[in-house]
Amino acid sequence: MNAPIRKLVIVGGGTAGWMSAALLKRVLGDRLDIELVESREIGTVGVGEATIPPIQHVNNVLGLDEAEFLRETKSTIKLAIRFENWRAQGEQYYHTFGAPGRVQAFCPFHHFWVRARMSGHATSLWDHDLNYLCAVGDKFAKLQVNDPVWELQYAYHFDASLYGQYLRRYCEKLGVTRTEGLVEHVDVDPENGHVTTLHLKDGKQVAGEFFVDCSGGRGLLIQKTLNTGYEDWSHWLPCDRAMAVPSERFERTLLFTRSIAHSAGWQWRIPLQHRNGNGLVYSSSHYSDDEAADILLNNLESKPIGEPKIIPFRTGRATRQWNRNVVAVGLSSGFLEPLESTSIYLIQSAAVRLIHLFPHAGVTDELIAEYNRQSQTEYEQIRDFIIMHYWLNDRGDSRFWQDCAAMDVPDRLHRKTELFGANGTLVHDDLDIFLDSSWLQVMLGQGIVPRDYHPLADRLSDAELLDKLEKTRLTKQQPLEKMPGHDEFLRMYCGTG
Ligand SMILES: Cc1cc2nc3c(=O)[nH]c(=O)nc-3n(C[C@H](O)[C@H](O)[C@H](O)COP(=O)(O)OP(=O)(O)OC[C@H]3O[C@@H](n4cnc5c(N)ncnc54)[C@H](O)[C@@H]3O)c2cc1C
Repeated sequence: MNAPIRKLVIVGGGTAGWMSAALLKRVLGDRLDIELVESREIGTVGVGEATIPPIQHVNNVLGLDEAEFLRETKSTIKLAIRFENWRAQGEQYYHTFGAPGRVQAFCPFHHFWVRARMSGHATSLWDHDLNYLCAVGDKFAKLQVNDPVWELQYAYHFDASLYGQYLRRYCEKLGVTRTEGLVEHVDVDPENGHVTTLHLKDGKQVAGEFFVDCSGGRGLLIQKTLNTGYEDWSHWLPCDRAMAVPSERFERTLLFTRSIAHSAGWQWRIPLQHRNGNGLVYSSSHYSDDEAADILLNNLESKPIGEPKIIPFRTGRATRQWNRNVVAVGLSSGFLEPLESTSIYLIQSAAVRLIHLFPHAGVTDELIAEYNRQSQTEYEQIRDFIIMHYWLNDRGDSRFWQDCAAMDVPDRLHRKTELFGANGTLVHDDLDIFLDSSWLQVMLGQGIVPRDYHPLADRLSDAELLDKLEKTRLTKQQPLEKMPGHDEFLRMYCGTG
């Protein structure tokens, strides 16, 4: 159907609804009237507090003042995730947003490191990563240097409900209309199957030409109305439930998310300015909810605030994230568990993709196909990265971990780990949000050490090689001395912390 689109309706006022509304209105401006419908009766999922660095693009495009953003959303800085007990109990490693060393004349730094390691000069690769050094040393500053050696990549931990409210105020100022009400019934054009009108419980009707389904896991438009279908990935990602509870804040605010593996799942700890976010992601065929509650509550570092909330989920994705005149964004589009904090990024990426491919002149099959191709690739790449954490384990202490280690993984993941294991080769795939440095850290952390390195690393003599590694390590440490601690930074920068 080819009719120009002027009126866009968003169903849902969680992070997906408000972030989509903010980006679409800010970028497409007066070309679109945007109305967002949300229901207090249903509420939002209330979790989703750890992000990855691309969130800064959102803030920049929206023109947000960072200090105000940190204050309003009680944010803290995130430099990394610390994975504890994942490969083996008692072990830990960091997946930082930084990169150890840098490429020199086509040779990535880690090949030099592998060569040194093979000749018995083993230091930790992470000692060459500024993000890691700051994360463990509790140091943070916005470095104003142009040298990439001292680049510090960061994201935020924030309070999900404060973030939603903050974006709502922003959107309303831009002219997004908000309608409170529960959608009870949806009209579909019998000729082309397009959604036309939402009927609310109080009798109101909301009509539109294009719809963004941000209704959360229920997928009100994409599934309940259009019956799009869902691709289930639970055979690769066995957890299907989460239990979340906030707790009182710690003395010192960590610069990283903690991800702690248990015998059939894992626990997150997210430090905020005023409290901590905690949750257990688990497999319901291995833990009952009572067992999960015991594990979660017995592993908190501070007093819980309120009762734990159970959130069931099904890992996978809508088979078409754009169907007819509906694009699903957020939990309605699919769900990959929060292990690498990618869901909010997927909202951002979906909204940006929709901006690029927006059907101003009307919906076409070509636009739909391109949108769906990109979303599918992106989802599958993140899926593979997350599967890797489960698959490459050497725990063996429970049936859960044994089954994960024995599973058949997607071919792409197989190929990437084989290449890396052989001689440290890393290949970046188009649309993969995870850069080589991420694959490198998690593959090493989960126990793959390359058996060889690229011959380019042989062009240095032994002495030059060791000198290079030592110089990189020392250079990375230089800025630390003058940097404040995390809490001090927050106090100085935005008057909180
Ligand atoms: C356990 C867990 C932990 C997570 N942790 C992270 C993390 O650390 N980092 C990260 O990036 N992501 C995380 N996520 C994902 C993140 O929480 C979501 O991507 C994000 O909150 C977006 O949710 P949403 O807006 O799609 O859905 P919701 O928050 O569920 O919002 C749905 C909205 O739709 C409205 N609605 C639904 N039905 C109707 C109706 N019939 N009529 C009117 N309105 C309706 C509701 O009122 C609500 O406003 C996590 C998810 C889970 C489950």
